[in-house]
Amino acid sequence: MMIVNSLDELQTARHLLDGTVGLVPTMGYLHEGHLSLIRRAREDCDHVAVSIFVNPTQFGANEDLSKYPRDLERDLNLIDPIGVDLVWNPTPEIMYPPGYQTWVEVETLTHPLEGRMRPGHFKGVTTVVAKLFNAVQPQRAYFGQKDAQQAAVIRQMVRDLNFPIEMIVCPTMREPDGLAMSSRNKYLEVEDRQAATVLFHALSAAKSAYENGERSAEKLRTLMKDTLAAEPRANPQYVSCANYDTLEELDVVKGKSLLSLAVLIGRTRLIDNFVLE
Ligand code: AMP
Repeated sequence: MMIVNSLDELQTARHLLDGTVGLVPTMGYLHEGHLSLIRRAREDCDHVAVSIFVNPTQFGANEDLSKYPRDLERDLNLIDPIGVDLVWNPTPEIMYPPGYQTWVEVETLTHPLEGRMRPGHFKGVTTVVAKLFNAVQPQRAYFGQKDAQQAAVIRQMVRDLNFPIEMIVCPTMREPDGLAMSSRNKYLEVEDRQAATVLFHALSAAKSAYENGERSAEKLRTLMKDTLAAEPRANPQYVSCANYDTLEELDVVKGKSLLSLAVLIGRTRLIDNFVLE
């Protein structure tokens, strides 16, 4: 496993990889969700590259950049047995040297949901992912359904900017009680950890209503809100039932749709979603 930091080291290491390369971009503090993407890349591609970079430009001023969990040694131990060829762990100065001034921005798709709650977030995401794509030159890139809007926004960027990269979106990995795995789950106090299952319960309530024939998006949103309201530790930021591709809120559920929500549990902000086919 080659572990590199600088762009020069990355280029040298990249040239040693013949055949298809699958890139898994991460912010580290890896869990089973990340590992599932890496395993999928391992199955699909001749070589696997993993980037580990806590990207400062996707964090808002009042967000958790400084306390975002980091543990490179632990991450390397987790991925080593999977058979990763290349790990790129750049510093913020390597990605954004003094005088940096170029940004990639996707428009309409970044306006609702996460984009509304976290202004500037997706501009940071698309910029760093474009830089990762250009530097690593993968044939395929792997993302999690957990961050549904992020996957949609990056898909749009890939299409709009003609990146010759196939995007693969992998299912959300969950704890046995349904909580979606996330590096941020580490922040949850003991009582909050129990309360955090309310996201899964709210989505499950709406999904089973849908499976029982409910097609009113407003009724599905209300079901999710009511479930969240029953958990005193939960403070919802948004609850959505939207078109899967455009992320526009629906009146009537028709075609592929996305149930999604963002909830503060104590001081920890969690997101989750289910797809309705
Ligand atoms: P992050 O390190 O949080 O930026 O996540 C890196 C990648 O892992 C993103 O594509 C995420 O969508 C994906 N990911 C995060 N959590 C999960 C999960 N529970 N299941 C599947 N993929 C995930």
